[in-house]
Amino acid sequence: MGLFDSIKKGIADLLGKAKDEAVETAVDAAKDKANDAIDNAKDAVRERAEARKEQKEEAAAAERAAHEAARVCSQCGRHASPAEKFCSECGGKIVEKFRVCSKCGRRAEEAEKFCTECGGGIAEKIEEIK
Ligand SMILES: [Zn+2]
Ligand SMILES: [Zn+2]
Repeated sequence: MGLFDSIKKGIADLLGKAKDEAVETAVDAAKDKANDAIDNAKDAVRERAEARKEQKEEAAAAERAAHEAARVCSQCGRHASPAEKFCSECGGKIVEKFRVCSKCGRRAEEAEKFCTECGGGIAEKIEEIK
């Protein structure tokens, strides 16, 4: 092999190596990017799931509080504690008394005289405690 040929081969080898390295680096970078994107997506999904769970728990707690606040004695109207099934004052049955819209059925706040959603009249609704 002549000098020219060996120089040519050397250059070709170097070029080949450089190309391989460049390809490897590009592939690694692309893999990193893809993994980052997957991690980010996973985080986002997890965060959304946690937020949903928190919202659900908050809604459930609000629902429980609303039910507890609605417990009254059916005879004397006394507000009952969550533990009472019968009134400790008069022995009357404890029921849940809600104020609901007579039109859309939405549960109304204590101060509402008309439904803030549809303008319907507010009626009292008595529910048996299960
Ligand atoms: Zn009572
Ligand atoms: Zn309404």
